[in-house]
Amino acid sequence: MSINVGTTMADLLADARTRDKADPLAHFRSGFHFPKQVDGSDKLYFTGNSLGLQHESVDAAVAEVMESWRVRAVEGHFRGDRPWMNYHELLRGGQAELLGAKPSEIITANTLSVNLHLAMVSFYRPSGKRCRVLMERNAFPSDRYAVESQIRLHGLDPSDCLVELAPVAGQRLIEESQIEEYLAEQGDTVALVLWPGVQYATGQVFDLPRIAAASQGAGACTGFDLAHSAGNVPVALHDSGCDFAIWCTYKYLNAGPGSVGGMFIHERHHSNTGLPRLQGWYGNNLASRFRMAPDFDPAKGADAWVISNPPILAMAPLLASLKVFSAAGMPQLRKKSIQLSGWLATAIEQHLGQHLEIITPGQPERRGCQLSLRVKAGREKGRELFEYLEQSGVVPDWREPDVIRVAPVPLYNSFEDGTRLVQLIRDWFDQQK
Ligand SMILES: *Cc1c(COP(=O)(O)O)cnc(C)c1O
Repeated sequence: MSINVGTTMADLLADARTRDKADPLAHFRSGFHFPKQVDGSDKLYFTGNSLGLQHESVDAAVAEVMESWRVRAVEGHFRGDRPWMNYHELLRGGQAELLGAKPSEIITANTLSVNLHLAMVSFYRPSGKRCRVLMERNAFPSDRYAVESQIRLHGLDPSDCLVELAPVAGQRLIEESQIEEYLAEQGDTVALVLWPGVQYATGQVFDLPRIAAASQGAGACTGFDLAHSAGNVPVALHDSGCDFAIWCTYKYLNAGPGSVGGMFIHERHHSNTGLPRLQGWYGNNLASRFRMAPDFDPAKGADAWVISNPPILAMAPLLASLKVFSAAGMPQLRKKSIQLSGWLATAIEQHLGQHLEIITPGQPERRGCQLSLRVKAGREKGRELFEYLEQSGVVPDWREPDVIRVAPVPLYNSFEDGTRLVQLIRDWFDQQK
């Protein structure tokens, strides 16, 4: 795709407006609530990778649950338009479609880190020499903490069993080939490969089928953390052959702070009675659940991994949000995302290239919405720019040691948003002279 973003800032703005006019998804923006500046105007929101914006349909979805509770109380489990007993069923199809899974492979429960623990109970089963977890050096800290504690839970030592691959010296990105090389040499020591779909700090998208194939070839289990993938990039979980995946729904999926998480368990494990699993009454077959019998009768499919009565109030925003995704269509969202992020990257390179480096890979298939920026003059200048942006009504975010993340989200960001960001950054560098 060749992008002509013009040479002057005026050209850039004109080009952005032309693109916004031609954008078939542009109308979705007005359905979202943007945080406001002091003068009442919308902030420039670029942090949908951290907390997605609230859609206007969320209010009604939450109000419906509140009303059912108010007027039906306990009978809300069985009565009303959307009885709570089956509420989770309404969340299955939309997530299955976004993540390339069969509906029976999806559960909506708990939150990401908790689901990671539950999945590791089943899929991290160290035995003899095969005791290691292979992950990345710069993994999201919660994932690392979870893995470390699971290793200890097995009476093992993280300094032997936690292997973290780092980018090769002088690089910021890890190549898939590094995982393959490690597994070719040490594969018989690895019990689990745990990898992100999208690296949270750099925005790099990984080739999940390739990683799953290497892991499976080495005889290890494979788990994917899709916190930054779900609702951002297309994923084909079932076909990738991974054993499990986990995600949160408050980032690109716009389901609100601390919203309920998701987990994928590959179909081939559904009737494997040999797998250890933590169980609770909501993982019991619905038909026999309320007989309250002492023996656990597992539900079919991934549902056997559910433990508790689900948080319906936390599920309602996800239900509303999945409808928005379904109306827009993930292929269309991805198409716009590639154009929007590609266009912004080109504009940054053209207008700010002497000051800023984009760490995120340039090839569209190796990135999603997010662009991770580094100020070439170093961390201090980077912090100053970040703080200036915040004071100027922009919502970007900062990740140590020196990364400013901006994520133009195709559901609610526009090309004009991108231009305004570039203009602000340019003004700041001009003032520095
Ligand atoms: C956002 C994120 C989390 C957050 O975990 P919670 O349990 O939802 O708090 C975990 N891992 C990764 C990779 C993330 O990006």
